[in-house]
Amino acid sequence: MTALSPHLKQATPVVVDHALGSWIHGTDGREYLDFTTGIGVTSTGHCHPRVVAAAQEQAGKIIHAQYTTVMHPPLLELTEKLGEVLPDGLDSLFYANSGSEAVESAIRLARMATGRPNIVTFQGGFHGRTVAAATLTTAGTRFSAGFSPLMGGVHMAPFPYAYRYGWSVDEAVDFCLRELDYFFVTRTAPQDTAAFLIEPALGDGGYLPTPPAFLEGLRERADQHGILLIVDEVQTGCGRTGKFWGHQYSSISPDVLITAKGIASGFPISAIAAPEELMAKAWPGSQGGTYGGNAVAAAAGCATLDLIRDERLVENSRVRGDELRTAVQKIQQDHPGIGDVRGNGLMLGIEFTAEDGTPDSATALAVQQATTGHGLLTLTCGPLLNVVRLIPPLVVTEQEIQTGVERFDAAVSEVLGA
Ligand code: PMP
Repeated sequence: MTALSPHLKQATPVVVDHALGSWIHGTDGREYLDFTTGIGVTSTGHCHPRVVAAAQEQAGKIIHAQYTTVMHPPLLELTEKLGEVLPDGLDSLFYANSGSEAVESAIRLARMATGRPNIVTFQGGFHGRTVAAATLTTAGTRFSAGFSPLMGGVHMAPFPYAYRYGWSVDEAVDFCLRELDYFFVTRTAPQDTAAFLIEPALGDGGYLPTPPAFLEGLRERADQHGILLIVDEVQTGCGRTGKFWGHQYSSISPDVLITAKGIASGFPISAIAAPEELMAKAWPGSQGGTYGGNAVAAAAGCATLDLIRDERLVENSRVRGDELRTAVQKIQQDHPGIGDVRGNGLMLGIEFTAEDGTPDSATALAVQQATTGHGLLTLTCGPLLNVVRLIPPLVVTEQEIQTGVERFDAAVSEVLGA
């Protein structure tokens, strides 16, 4: 008998029958409030009727309009709609299917455009699982161990993880920028450095917002040395953080922006955006793919972007996110085992620490598992897996936030005592 790989273990025991909005209905007849959104993907909730209608309509016209053979209206329309929300100047788009593919295309572009070999990443970053993307990923050696040699030319600099260092955010930023300057002297000369690659908030690496001053420090150094600044907005994009793009908490403009996940409410599509002059420096033949920019996914993407605008979902993300963070911070007051509660918008990280301040993965896992029993789906993250992350859909209501918080509280009390 064939079966799924033993490594495809689910974070919850739930088998889904169907889902709508913020709710997943299991084959066990139970309903679960979904604060995982398929790892930050189902931005407009599950099966939003407008997304379903757009996909159904497109599937009846053409499903696979291979985009290097023929063009199709949904991709042109999606490109136009993205133009309305992308930072000024990022006016050229390349589409792929997954976040990893888009990350790899951004890296290829940076090397081709600058003629330089090295990419600087930041500790705890997650950029995907394909070999090059896994090389760029430092959110856990579990993502990159066992299949070396990895890609050459990738160098990891420290990330300002203030809570871990026990410093203020300002101290952590100062330290990391100083280390980066030292890095240019000790590890990769600026003239060998093609790009900085950074998430506006660490995602799988611990749900940790990147301090705006750090992004601004990177921008300064990128400008000074002709290095490209690539923001990986795969998880932070499309309203997740309470701004349309996570980097918009800072004053920077990126040179390349990578998007995926929330862009199409669950259909696989990803993109990189760059100024046309930069995109044109990609070598002929380096951009393409069989399935990139799929017509049904692009139609779902158009419906998603319309919904984000029409239902003011970025604002909802900010308001509901503030409610969620404030409520979880209240729970934290009763439980010293919750060391840190952080995040912007609907991207909340809850870091568990033992009495001596060391990371407590066992408790994080126990809480994550216990939430399912209380009818709430959650995930863990972080290199040490000691962070529980809450990722509600952008359509989540005030009532659903309240229900989610009550259920989370019940799970924490079950594990840590009331
Ligand atoms: N970058 C970031 C920031 C991500 O969060 C992820 C997925 N968790 C990826 C890249 C990789 O995306 P995919 O799994 O679609 O390849």
